[in-house]
Amino acid sequence: MSSILNPQLRQALADHIRYYNDLGIYDFYRKQVEPSSMGKTTEATRDNIQAGGGARPTPAESSDPASALRAIREDIGDCTRCRLHKQGRKQIVFGVGNPRAELMFIGEAPGADEDEQGEPFVGRAGQLLNNMIKAMGLRREDIYIANIIKCRPPGNRTPERDECETCSPFLMRQIEVIGPKAIVALGAVAAKTLLAINAPMSELRGQWYDFRGTKLAVTYHPAYLLRDPRQKKETWKDLQMVMKELGLKAPEKSAEQTS
Ligand code: URA
Repeated sequence: MSSILNPQLRQALADHIRYYNDLGIYDFYRKQVEPSSMGKTTEATRDNIQAGGGARPTPAESSDPASALRAIREDIGDCTRCRLHKQGRKQIVFGVGNPRAELMFIGEAPGADEDEQGEPFVGRAGQLLNNMIKAMGLRREDIYIANIIKCRPPGNRTPERDECETCSPFLMRQIEVIGPKAIVALGAVAAKTLLAINAPMSELRGQWYDFRGTKLAVTYHPAYLLRDPRQKKETWKDLQMVMKELGLKAPEKSAEQTS
């Protein structure tokens, strides 16, 4: 194979494969290419190399994030990759919002309401998240909301590590396609999965992290804020840090809207 690859294409191919390896995908197949066209058009050759876990967005898809997101959803299919598919989940909760969002919120896992409606953060925690979004001067449809895992764990238990590892590559692809300016990880599961850091929330929040070239902030999960509303003040500080980064101005009386 190396005899037909010029150094540029070989580098592109290596980057492409590394991208998929980062997502935990190692099996690849190659479509049959006409021998006469081999080595002639690098673009065609590149497009013929696809990953076993589902196609990376083509250049055309990359400029159309909505269709790229649809392709990721199709790749997930009626997922049976982890045990959650046989533990009572009703449906896959993919993610919702603006495919070109500048801001992404990432939670932990769907709960009962989300499992019922197929949309993240639609229950009580979702109402609070909506208030937080509004307090930032944004609308829910301006941003993109997803979870680390896409199926409801039984009894809303904390997702297992292997469930996060199996599911999160799809989230990585969603992030890649949307290309937000900032990500907010809601709660410890999201923060620890994305950052691979094991630290208490009090230490994780209040600062910026680099997540594959995107700024990432950590704040308390809205469900936790429902149990301990005193932490709303700290959450608002985290959100203000994000607003500053995105050049957002709070509407009047924003701090009160998070309650
Ligand atoms: N909690 C989450 O982490 N995600 C949801 O979608 C709902 C509640």
